[in-house]
Amino acid sequence: MVKYKVEVDRQTCIATGACYATDSAHYESDEKQKSKVVGGETDESKSVRVFDDDNLEDAQAVAKACPVSAITVTQL
Ligand code: SF4
Repeated sequence: MVKYKVEVDRQTCIATGACYATDSAHYESDEKQKSKVVGGETDESKSVRVFDDDNLEDAQAVAKACPVSAITVTQL
């Protein structure tokens, strides 16, 4: 098990849907198709949650693939 924080910069997100289409364990759409973190604390500017599981690499791969680098994954 690894503890890590996933944060989406919702001001930067351009609502491509790529993250939540690829990894629905970490990312989901809001009503405007912008990304938010599943089960996270979300407002207009960001969405954040700490996870404690074995899926760090999945979250990181999706973060790398975001076209505007709106996702940050930090191992704690
Ligand atoms: S991949 Fe990036 S731009 Fe696309 S919905 Fe996710 S956070 Fe937003």
